[in-house]
Amino acid sequence: MIILMKQVPDAEEIFIDPVKFTLNRSQARGIINPSDENALEAALKIKDSEGGEITVISMGPPQAENAILECMGRGADRGILITDRVFAAADTYATSLTIAAAVKKVGDFDIIFAGESTTDSGTGHVGPGVAEFLGIDQVTYTVSSRIEAGMLIAERELEDGIEVVSTKPPVLVTVLINANLPRRSRLRLKIDAIKKGVEKWDHDSLNLPPEWVGIKGSPTLVGALKIPEERKRESRPIKLDEIPVLVQDLVKKGIIRTGDEA
Ligand SMILES: Cc1cc2nc3c(=O)[nH]c(=O)nc-3n(C[C@H](O)[C@H](O)[C@H](O)COP(=O)(O)OP(=O)(O)OC[C@H]3O[C@@H](n4cnc5c(N)ncnc54)[C@H](O)[C@@H]3O)c2cc1C
Repeated sequence: MIILMKQVPDAEEIFIDPVKFTLNRSQARGIINPSDENALEAALKIKDSEGGEITVISMGPPQAENAILECMGRGADRGILITDRVFAAADTYATSLTIAAAVKKVGDFDIIFAGESTTDSGTGHVGPGVAEFLGIDQVTYTVSSRIEAGMLIAERELEDGIEVVSTKPPVLVTVLINANLPRRSRLRLKIDAIKKGVEKWDHDSLNLPPEWVGIKGSPTLVGALKIPEERKRESRPIKLDEIPVLVQDLVKKGIIRTGDEA
């Protein structure tokens, strides 16, 4: 199994610059992206029952090594950090493409687990993007997964209920933050992790054209950023006989519909 894990700044330690209105992350500690902890736990549960090995892949700056070691301290067997200046400023397309190339280099796998989305950029693109670049099935929004007779059985939490999906690996699964209770790391496993170390893969290791990665490989352009105007709620007391007129007005403006139209 492979876990995709991003190190993110601890949201509680990010503050808003009172002058520039930008997010200041400089004081923030790096932590495992919360739903990636659930992704790891989902894989560890399968490892507990079925055996197997878990490799953690993360793309990020050198400090992300600590988050990988934490995953190994919880039971992952191998850690790979994709890190190189040319990967910097990648959008979700270039991030997915680079991670998919690393997965190919790892070789055979059955299941890739990713978090549903991150707490810093939160697009939810990367899991599905990696699956598309690898040309494998994907099961998103999962709250549980298990193996039965060689098939992955996963429960997806949808707006109107739970959908149970059965698919044959290789498959990519994205895991929701409420899926499980992530375990803590164990001292012995952490010591083993530090002895084993984290593999660092740079741009040369992945052999991708430089124009496909980092900022050069990122088609997304941020045109402008603006803070939306705060809309103030207003209220005034109304008389009972005003209600039909006000309702008519809301119907006219298309804000509400009457039972006949529904
Ligand atoms: C134009 C542009 C410029 C950007 N420049 C920068 C920049 O300079 N620096 C910067 O930090 N960000 C930058 N970003 C944000 C960056 O693209 C995203 O942080 C990154 O692509 C991951 O997307 P996300 O956080 O939305 O992940 P999501 O799609 O929400 O993540 C879903 C899951 O995918 C996996 N995943 C996501 N990212 C990684 C990763 N890096 N390694 C392993 N697994 C992962 C995790 O399992 C995660 O839970 C930029 C974005 C844009 C659009």
